[in-house]
Amino acid sequence: MTKKFPSALQVRCNEPMARHTSFGVGGPADYWVEVRKLDALRLALATADELGLTRTVMGHGTNALVADAGIDGLVIYNRCTGFKHARSKREIQVESGHSMAQLAGRCARLGIRGLTFAIGVPGTVGGAIYGNAGAFGSNMAAVLASARIWRGSGEQDTPATELGFAYRRSSLHNNPDNPVVLEATFRVETDRASVLRDELLDLARKRRASQPQGRHAGSFFKNPDGDFAGRLIEASGLKGLRHNTAFISPVHANFLSSDRDGRADDVLDLAIDTQRRVAESFGIVLVPEVRFIGRWDERIEELLHESHP
Ligand SMILES: Cc1cc2nc3c(=O)[nH]c(=O)nc-3n(C[C@H](O)[C@H](O)[C@H](O)COP(=O)(O)OP(=O)(O)OC[C@H]3O[C@@H](n4cnc5c(N)ncnc54)[C@H](O)[C@@H]3O)c2cc1C
Repeated sequence: MTKKFPSALQVRCNEPMARHTSFGVGGPADYWVEVRKLDALRLALATADELGLTRTVMGHGTNALVADAGIDGLVIYNRCTGFKHARSKREIQVESGHSMAQLAGRCARLGIRGLTFAIGVPGTVGGAIYGNAGAFGSNMAAVLASARIWRGSGEQDTPATELGFAYRRSSLHNNPDNPVVLEATFRVETDRASVLRDELLDLARKRRASQPQGRHAGSFFKNPDGDFAGRLIEASGLKGLRHNTAFISPVHANFLSSDRDGRADDVLDLAIDTQRRVAESFGIVLVPEVRFIGRWDERIEELLHESHP
C-alpha cells in the first residue's frame, strides 16, 4: 500500500537507482526523495521512522552497488550543500550533501588549505565521512573536527575522534542506529588561492591519467596490508575478465565496471569470482570497499563472509 508522506517531501515511488549510482545499475527504491535543505533531510528521516520504513541516505552513489531487486523503504538523495566559513576560527562548516570535488574547488578559491585531496574523491561529504574517504595521502580523519549526527532519538555534534575512523571505515558502518551525517566541521589553514589552484590542477591531472573512465565505483576492493588489490588481481591474470555485463577494467584491475544497461548481479558474480581467484593465487581474501545496498540474496554472504565487518 502506498504510504502517505508530508506534502513538503516530493516522494517518488519505484525510482530506478541505476540513475543515481556511478555503476549505473540497480533496481528501484520503493520510495525516493531528493532533499536540498537540512530541515527537509530531518523531515524525511523522521517520516521514514514514523511510517516504519527502512531509511537509506545516499550521496552521489559513487561507492554503492544497489541490488537489481532494488531497495526497501525510503531512499533519501542528499543535496544539502550549505557552506560557512569563519576565517578567524580556522574552521569551515559544510552540509553533508556538498560535493567533495566542488568543496576542493571552493576552498581553493577562498584561500583555504586542507581539502585539496577532495578533488580526487567523487561523491558527497556525508559519503566521505561514512567511508573515511581519502586520496593523495590525506583522508577525512585527518581534517574533520566534528560531525553533526542524526540518530533518530536526536542529533548531536560528535568529535571526529569518536567516529572510529580507520582505513575506509567509520563507526557509522553496520551501526544499528543507522546514524546520518547532517553537517561537518573541518579544521583548515589559509594559503594563497593561486598556490592552491595550481595544486588542484596538478592533482586533477594525476587522477585523469591513472583512473579509467566508465561505470564503476572507483576501487572495488580495499588494499590488503602492505599490498595493492589491483596488483593482486592483475597478477592473478584477471585484467579484462568478464561476467556478462560486468568486467574488470583493462586500465586498472581494481576497477570492476559495468556496461551501459548492465546488471548488479553480474558485478556481484565478477566480484565473487575475483575474490576467489585471488585467494587461490595468493591466499589473501580481498575485502570489498564498495557498499552493497538493497535486497541482495544469500550469494552476497559469499563475498562478505568473514571479511566485511
Ligand atoms: C571514479 C571514482 C574514483 C574514486 N576514488 C576514490 C578515492 O580516491 N578515494 C576514496 O576514498 N574513494 C574513492 N571513490 C569512492 C567514492 O567516491 C567514495 O567512497 C565517496 O566517499 C562516496 O560518496 P557518495 O556520496 O557517493 O556515497 P554513496 O555511494 O552515495 O554512499 C556510500 C555509503 O555512504 C552512506 N552515506 C552517504 N551519505 C551519508 C550520510 N550523509 N550519512 C550517513 N551515511 C551516508 C550510504 O548510505 C552508503 O552506505 C571513487 C569513486 C569513483 C566513482
